[in-house]
Amino acid sequence: MDPNLLDTVTGLPKRGHLWSVLDDILIQIKRQETYCGVLLVNIDNMGEISILVGEGNINDFLTLIAARLNKCLWDMDTAVRFDEHQFVIIANSIKRPENIHVVMKKVQEYLTIECEIDGQQINPSITVGITLLPYDSCEVEEIIANANVALQMALANSEVSYYYYNQELGQRIEEREDVKNSILSTLANESFILQLQPKIAVKTGEVRGIEALVRMKDVDGNILPPNDFIPIAESSNLILKIGEWVLEECCALSIEWQNLGINLPISINISDVQLKNSASLLALLHKLSARKDAKPHNIILEISENIISGGETLVSALLTEIKNYGYQVSIDGFGSGFSSLSVLKNLKVDEIKIDRNFLSDVPEDDKSTAIFKSIIMLGQSMDFRVVVMGVEHQAQSDLLKEYGCDEFQGFLISEPLERNKFLEWFKTYQNSH
Ligand code: C2E
Ligand code: MG
Repeated sequence: MDPNLLDTVTGLPKRGHLWSVLDDILIQIKRQETYCGVLLVNIDNMGEISILVGEGNINDFLTLIAARLNKCLWDMDTAVRFDEHQFVIIANSIKRPENIHVVMKKVQEYLTIECEIDGQQINPSITVGITLLPYDSCEVEEIIANANVALQMALANSEVSYYYYNQELGQRIEEREDVKNSILSTLANESFILQLQPKIAVKTGEVRGIEALVRMKDVDGNILPPNDFIPIAESSNLILKIGEWVLEECCALSIEWQNLGINLPISINISDVQLKNSASLLALLHKLSARKDAKPHNIILEISENIISGGETLVSALLTEIKNYGYQVSIDGFGSGFSSLSVLKNLKVDEIKIDRNFLSDVPEDDKSTAIFKSIIMLGQSMDFRVVVMGVEHQAQSDLLKEYGCDEFQGFLISEPLERNKFLEWFKTYQNSH
């Protein structure tokens, strides 16, 4: 870069360079359909620091801040010296709007680390105004003005250290952050909850197994369904820890039940993210299968149909390994994905679970009923055990008998129940069947 464009103190591009960087980025994000975050970073206690280290040494402090920015940002990002005590960061190629929060947190963490200048301990305090492109604006002047509006809002509120220009986005990010923090504390306290839903034999009505479904309590003690936290856990890889907990817990439960004479297979939902991290999943499964009294055949791993279409050879190798350890495998949400039948045919699968969406108009709607029947027949013709999800009405259950389906789950028999309640329900149900 032309040395005239660089700030002599920090070596960062000068304010004047910002406009051309933003121009280039606006063209780029249009082409690549990515986002770009613009962060206006204010050093709040610059006056104090100046007095502490003396005017002569303030440049050392600014150089240190610039070095920290260069260290924590990626090569494709740009940091600009904007003002005496302000920097602008342009975080490029953001794939999801939420990721800008990660950049902001990293910048805040790095810049506020205590430092020593000329023998004086300094604790920099910073506030950040954030705007997201092309979300908030595509006009260079407006982008900078928006970042400044956000910064002023943050400075006016002593309880916050950053502010999003787009409040709706900010709120969404805050909510995700809250859920992430709840997941982290629930993991730390090992206080996730498992609810168990019975799987029923269509022909005899006996209980054939259970599905374990994870729940989380929020700070107010409300129980959150998985759809409220699993997608966030998946996007932040926290699902790996949750999945580990669920597997450990279910394997322990399986052994405990066997010792009580209850021989029910337990179905466990395995996230696509866990499957993609196959080495750690396999290591855990291997460890659990080697435990005293473990019967991996009584553990059914439910994988989503979508993952199969992603990479046939990898999934096939993974399933072979899982089956070698003795576990059963089920394809969850069968019929809703895009797996090709030729792929499914060659996979080592024991069971398919038909998505409950296929049942919604059954038996009232003829076309839906025909589709539903053909999916059951397809599963049967491939020699899979066929399980139907979400059975709510007797008429649906009657139809399953007619179609020769193997098992079902649904509110008709029981909602998912916590462990003790499930055992009570199980005893009563067994006595009446
Ligand atoms: P899924 O595996 O398809 O789970 C079945 C869902 O159907 C459960 O919702 C269950 O409560 C619900 N359900 C069962 N019977 C009926 C019925 O008759 N009618 C209706 N309307 N719904 C019924 P839930 O517990 O909210 O779970 C949602 C999804 O979250 C699960 O879908 C699964 O994909 C995921 N999930 C749950 N637990 C775990 C877990 O431990 N790990 C992972 N990775 N995902 C999990
Ligand atoms: Mg499932």
